[in-house]
Amino acid sequence: MSRLVVLPAEADFAGWREKARALLQARVRPEETVWTVAGRGEGGDLFAERADVAVAAASSGTISVPRAFVDMAKFVICHNAADRFALLYRILWRLLDDKHLMEIAADADVQRAEALAKAVRRDKHKMTAFVRFREAVTEDGSVWIAWFEPEHHIVEATAPFFVRRFANMKWSILTPGTSAHWDGEELVFTTGSVRADAPSADALEDYWRVYFASIFNPARLNTAAMQREMPKKYWKNMPEAGLIPDLVRGATQRTNAMLLNPPPPPRVAAQDRRAVMQRSQQQVESPDGDPLSWRNFDAQLTGCRRCPLWRNATQAVPGTGPRSADVMLVGEQPGDQEDLQGEPFVGPAGKLLDRALEAAGLPRGAIYLTNAVKHFKFEPRGKRRLHKKPNGSEIDVCRWWLASEIKLVQPKLIVALGATAASSLLQRPVKISAERGLPIALPEGAQALLTVHPSYLLRLPDPEVAELERRRFVHDLKRARSLANDLGAEFKAA
Ligand code: SF4
Repeated sequence: MSRLVVLPAEADFAGWREKARALLQARVRPEETVWTVAGRGEGGDLFAERADVAVAAASSGTISVPRAFVDMAKFVICHNAADRFALLYRILWRLLDDKHLMEIAADADVQRAEALAKAVRRDKHKMTAFVRFREAVTEDGSVWIAWFEPEHHIVEATAPFFVRRFANMKWSILTPGTSAHWDGEELVFTTGSVRADAPSADALEDYWRVYFASIFNPARLNTAAMQREMPKKYWKNMPEAGLIPDLVRGATQRTNAMLLNPPPPPRVAAQDRRAVMQRSQQQVESPDGDPLSWRNFDAQLTGCRRCPLWRNATQAVPGTGPRSADVMLVGEQPGDQEDLQGEPFVGPAGKLLDRALEAAGLPRGAIYLTNAVKHFKFEPRGKRRLHKKPNGSEIDVCRWWLASEIKLVQPKLIVALGATAASSLLQRPVKISAERGLPIALPEGAQALLTVHPSYLLRLPDPEVAELERRRFVHDLKRARSLANDLGAEFKAA
């Protein structure tokens, strides 16, 4: 007669191991067992006898098995195949006689178990890559909720990944089978949910789409590989997925445009930078006596030769926006597009900033936007110009222009985007993570607030981390808006 073995949960490896060990010690053969999960309905062999009592009585003792089996079994147990428990018990039984069974790749049981484990590993990877949290505001503050439909029983095994990554947030991942909840201290699992329990969209969806569009490289498009990595069934939960068909359709055209319009070559090779830098430093220490005004600002900036950066750049890029704005945003330096167009924040980082400002309720048209360094510093790489961070001397030298803009605009609040802007503004080394979001009084009378630069968000390789960091960025901008309101700022477009 068969023994009915009832496990407490679908992916309970410890429970399976305990029962399997007891069955083994009682010398119950694999073909004599029928495995099921509590609550699933104890179907199968109608004549099966419940084995729980015998299992409990015989559960002491040690049975050693190869590490490779245990490692694989932990994945196999998460598969949704109904025969997985029996398969694992059969392999375990056979290991008693053949300790090297796991090394026989052609063995049918080993092959099947490997295939199940591989499918589970892939499903877990998809969950870590394609879960998209959306914000829900409750009485206790923000909770981030995601809806995901795994193929296998992987939620318990994968949730610790999200705990490690988003330890400081409250979040829930809802799935049809099991839901995971993290309140900042404890991870708990509840029964499944329905899709309607999760928010379907939030205010930052557009923002996420802008990010995806900006990192999409048409020259690297491989549609088959993309669909293999990002199967269509996950698209419905991913705000950026709606862009994919259009981006794919326009990829060839965009690639051709990139090839036809390469960035201009450097105008003059950089020479003897140290000597020029020393001269420039002296100039800053003794700036020309001509009082600066908006009337001559752009002309003077265009002719600036205080440091070597003007040599390779197309042009100096002045600030833009109302010249009496109450809020000023300071970035690092112009990028490739800004250098060509002569305007700050018009490239991918600028587009991301636009969306973030919109999400934070800060009208870009009422803000003065500028950079700590006014000329584009880059390194030629083939046809591309790769951004290069300005060094301390270049930031110091160019501070004169930023200080002049602050004097002329007289903002109430200055938001520094990134460490370069912050150190130029505060005239000391700054670690953004240590001072982010805290108001800092400036000698000029304005308040400063520090956050990250939007280009940092574009460089984050992990989409999940990038999404969360972008939300933090919007959060910082909302704080800036609130502080600006406290300071009596008005938002008047130019
Ligand atoms: S980077 Fe600044 S200091 Fe250097 S040349 Fe340009 S405007 Fe002048």
